[in-house]
Amino acid sequence: MLLIAISCSDKENRKKYVLVIHGGAGTIERASMTPEKEIAYKQVLEEAVQVGYQAIQAGKSAVDAVEATVHVMENSPLFNAGKGAVFTHEGRNELDAAIMDGRNLMAGAIAGVTRVRNPISAARAVMEKSEHVLLSGSGADSFAEQAGLEMVDPSYFYTKDRWDGLQRALELDSVEAAQERKNHQASSLNAQMIDRKFGTVGCVALDNKGDLAAGTSTGGMTNKKFGRIGDAPIIGAGTYANNESVAVSCTGWGEFYLRNVVAYDLAALMSYKSLTVQEAAARVLKKVETAGGNGGLIALDKHGNMTMSFNTTGMYRAAITDDGKVEVYIYEDE
Ligand code: ASP
Repeated sequence: MLLIAISCSDKENRKKYVLVIHGGAGTIERASMTPEKEIAYKQVLEEAVQVGYQAIQAGKSAVDAVEATVHVMENSPLFNAGKGAVFTHEGRNELDAAIMDGRNLMAGAIAGVTRVRNPISAARAVMEKSEHVLLSGSGADSFAEQAGLEMVDPSYFYTKDRWDGLQRALELDSVEAAQERKNHQASSLNAQMIDRKFGTVGCVALDNKGDLAAGTSTGGMTNKKFGRIGDAPIIGAGTYANNESVAVSCTGWGEFYLRNVVAYDLAALMSYKSLTVQEAAARVLKKVETAGGNGGLIALDKHGNMTMSFNTTGMYRAAITDDGKVEVYIYEDE
């Protein structure tokens, strides 16, 4: 698989990025995208980075910027986070999210919530209003409610596209696939997973004080079963931020990101081996790929160097520099 990385760190003419987002990596090809859909995605991506940029310009913290930015994508039905999340095998929406503050390594996460309108805010509440890092299931929903967050009926998260996606996945979820999974073979199940359009959202930000933060929010993977939790809410796997190195948000086949502790590994490569953000991202994504996984990530270091890297055919992504210049991309060849 080809590794795509769009980044900027040239000493001359160096741009300083302050906020970078992704809206999921996967099989995203021009041929299967309508012009209207492409415009719709780009509009939400642009709006999201603008909202975060305004927060930073107003002197707010990187954590504030990440939360506000992720809200825009969670509220859009286009992405697999908040409204528009994928369905579990049982036809429910179970949402995962995490946020991390690079100033002090404080972190909060929730997994398998079904009633919080904006899961990223529930993750932030866990970070700021509890002594815990990760809450799950109905307990996490109750906590969010007690923290005063907006709660919704689970039907709020429904979209027809995602429901149809579940029906297709259920058709493929045959006895043979289960057998192949058991045998760990490169199987039709793998083909299904590799072809999945993921759609998770994430944001990394660098504020005026030089503080970093990262956040990720997702519905996980279509047809997930047994209360499956992916990498997004696991600190160090899908989400990580440390002022001393980098802020990272991942998207992709979560099991591989969990096993490879991708976000923390990237930060460790920068801290212990002095790799640049681009070198570290390439290294960790290579591991994911070698193991048979796919996906992407965004990472932003304390100097404003960033990378938007992926080994799929596309990743919804955007970035903004300190002078307010926005870049929005979808496919690998741009
Ligand atoms: N990483 C997410 C998960 O495995 C899925 C995604 O990024 O789209 O739950």
